[in-house]
This record gives sequence, structure tokens and C-alpha cells, in this order.
Amino acid sequence: MPPVTADPVEVNLINALEDRGLRRTAARSAVTDRIERVSDAFTAEQLCRELPDVGRATVYRTIRHLVDAGALCKLPILDGAPMYSIARIEHHHHTICSRCGAVGEFRHSTVERVMRSLEKEIDGDIVGHRMEIFITCSSCLAKSEINSSSGNSSVSI
Ligand SMILES: [Zn+2]
Ligand SMILES: [Zn+2]
Ligand SMILES: [Zn+2]
Repeated sequence: MPPVTADPVEVNLINALEDRGLRRTAARSAVTDRIERVSDAFTAEQLCRELPDVGRATVYRTIRHLVDAGALCKLPILDGAPMYSIARIEHHHHTICSRCGAVGEFRHSTVERVMRSLEKEIDGDIVGHRMEIFITCSSCLAKSEINSSSGNSSVSI
């Protein structure tokens, strides 16, 4: 378990949908169950492939509602489709491995202070902010070290 710097919030995606007035249906439950079971970030297409019995429109719509509810984070990827991950702590930012797509969450009080201090310099009311830090994660670094020590510097994903 990676250390989290804030108390994790209870994740209940189907409740998040019901809070938005969406009935609990078999299809929606299948989507939220699946999301709760995957620990890594995923794309909408991945979820569609894993849930062949659920219509694509339902998968996409359910994801969108969960993002709007703040239960899922939508992550920009350097190239490719956006990925989604469960929001386990309330306000947070992300690290995203640019090689394998592994997503981490972090909170940093200095970052928040800097963001607040920008209010003086920005014309208008700040209503929110996002920050993603793109990294090469430690397991990808370890893999590339193994490759380079064997004389092969190319990294295969
Ligand atoms: Zn997140
Ligand atoms: Zn990685
Ligand atoms: Zn922040």
C-alpha cells in the first residue's frame, strides 16, 4: 500500500449515482462493481471490453455521471484516450506514469498555498484547479535499469 496523506473516503459509486437521481439498475451496478474492483486507472474502452453485456452508451454515461459527482477522476493522458480512476481522497492531484499509465494520488499543502496565492494575480474568481504530474514510475525505472544493464537501452512497453 502506498502511503496516502489524507484519510481515504469511503468509495461507494452506486450511492454516488443514486445521489444524482439515477436508479440502481443491473447494468449500472455492473459498471460500478467493475470499477470498484480494478485498482488501476482505466479507459472507457477498457471497461466496455470487460463488460460485453453492458451497452457502450451505458458505460460512457455512467462514467460521465461519476466524474460529475466527483467520485471518479478524469485523467488527461499525454497521448491517447483519457483514463479514469476512483477518487479515494477528497481534494488531490495525480502523478501519472507516462510509460505504463500508473496513477498515484497526492496532496501537498505547499501546492495548495501556491494555488491560493495566485488568486491575487488572477483576474476573476478561481473556482477550482487541477494538477497532474507526469512521471516515470519506480517500477518502469527499475525495468529500464535492467534493460540498460543488459546492454539493451530500448524500453518495451
Ligand atoms: Zn484522483
Ligand atoms: Zn510506470
Ligand atoms: Zn489542489
